[in-house]
Amino acid sequence: MNYPGVVDDLRLVEEFLNTVDERTFRRHGETHAGGESLGGQQALDDWLADHGLPRGTGLEEAITLRTALRKVLSGEGTTESFPLRLRFTPGRGLGLTAQDRIVEIVAHAVATGSWARVKLCAAQDCRWAFYDTSKSGGGRWCAMNVCGNRAKTRAYRRRHTDGQPSPAVSTHIIDVAD
Ligand SMILES: [Zn+2]
Repeated sequence: MNYPGVVDDLRLVEEFLNTVDERTFRRHGETHAGGESLGGQQALDDWLADHGLPRGTGLEEAITLRTALRKVLSGEGTTESFPLRLRFTPGRGLGLTAQDRIVEIVAHAVATGSWARVKLCAAQDCRWAFYDTSKSGGGRWCAMNVCGNRAKTRAYRRRHTDGQPSPAVSTHIIDVAD
């Protein structure tokens, strides 16, 4: 069965997961700063508005949901559960809060199997959420030309040092298509 739109919806979830940026690696001589985009209720409300979602979700519940989803993607256990709540507003009918809209997208993705492609980058100093578009579904890095190459450079160094001081490593490591 085809579920058009599910990937676009997951992009929203991906952006939500990346409202906390844990990237701390150095690239081209610059350290990635990382940071928290949802630093307060106003920042959350702005984020929701920017993403076409209704207000009315509290900062704490948003962070709780984000933390639980990121934990699950890290392979850590969590006992949290997020029941979906349909809300009836007189004159406006049934609706979902922003939090429940995200839960609904995730639930749909779990039911259709596409959730398996939502991942956190395997690099511990990155952990950027991404949708794995590789053919095999075995993608590990947010971007092959960033974290994939960094991992290959580390592996190259390990193979070639043998206890000797680290030689300068060429950055021209050939990219392998996934
Ligand atoms: Zn990464």
